[in-house]
Amino acid sequence: MAVALLLAAGSGERLGSERPKAFVVLGGRPMLQWSVDALRAVGAVERIVVALPPGMQAPEGTVDVPGGASRSESVRAALQAAGEGDPVIVHDAARPLAAADLFRRALEALDETGADGVVAAARVADTIKRVEASGRVVETPQRDGLWAVQTPQVFRRAALEAALADDAAVAAATDDASLVEARGGDVRVLEASPANLKVTTPLDLRIAELLLAERAGAADNIAVVRSIFDAFAGGVPERSFDVIHPDVVWDLREWPGWEVIGADVYHGHAGLREYWSSWLSAWESIEFDVDELRDVGGDRVLALLRVRTRGRRSAIVVENPPHAQLYTLRDGLITEVRNFSDRDEALRAVGLGAGLD
Ligand code: C5P
Repeated sequence: MAVALLLAAGSGERLGSERPKAFVVLGGRPMLQWSVDALRAVGAVERIVVALPPGMQAPEGTVDVPGGASRSESVRAALQAAGEGDPVIVHDAARPLAAADLFRRALEALDETGADGVVAAARVADTIKRVEASGRVVETPQRDGLWAVQTPQVFRRAALEAALADDAAVAAATDDASLVEARGGDVRVLEASPANLKVTTPLDLRIAELLLAERAGAADNIAVVRSIFDAFAGGVPERSFDVIHPDVVWDLREWPGWEVIGADVYHGHAGLREYWSSWLSAWESIEFDVDELRDVGGDRVLALLRVRTRGRRSAIVVENPPHAQLYTLRDGLITEVRNFSDRDEALRAVGLGAGLD
């Protein structure tokens, strides 16, 4: 199982707050609590160690350790306090927008690539210049291939421990992956949203507030979609209509299964009743396994699911291949649903590729 090191020992001078940055209240809780909650939701994290500034207490259920003089020294102190656990997740408390899914994707990428480290990163949108103290530009590197590195950064423990052994490098480093790279380690980027911002200035704090408030709305959207599956599981599909807009459009064009049912697009509650009754009547029973409900932004929720059907006459149970549905909502009601027979196609439709580059 993985261990997570949460870095919260910075003073956050640029934020201009009286409290250390990680303890500034954001969206109603101390900033570091967002990361603790996200890490708890990952599922594969055995222990969370928090590197703290003097005089502050760690959130309940975490292990605390005094931070070091520099960022990577805090990492080293936290790793020493972490006990067993491999791989190691390193995350800044100053990035409260990192969601459980990003941590999971980073761990998966480490596993799949066999690399020493995987770091969340976003392609650079601005052109970057290297400028000397006088203000004179000395270099304008090609923007292609430039990435702004974030956290989480996940490492194989042995690679991180070896990288943290060099005292001088550790004192100067601004990210831990660079220490692994300096020893010839294989470090990969995992494309992440630029919305996983680092709270540094009061402006960042305002943006983070807005994004977290939007996410609270998204959580409601997920709950709305979940209520449909709950209605089916409870044997009362009719209850779903409480959360479906009367002008809903249910679009099956990307799901070849529609041919057995009749039409490829259904409109409104009446259309949906027709679609569901023709589909439900074909089976003795239908069970949904919802692997994931993912907020994909823009009031849309992607459902990754599998459906198990039992034939009415044959009583044969069929495990249907994994597929996806994309729900669009407005003011808490579902206005559009698209079925996809292929999950990758659904992910591409919402602009989410494979993630690794
Ligand atoms: O200062 P900066 O924003 O780059 O710090 C990144 C993260 O590292 C923050 O979450 C901060 O709390 C943490 N940090 C630390 N120990 C230090 C310096 C920074 O844990 N000595």
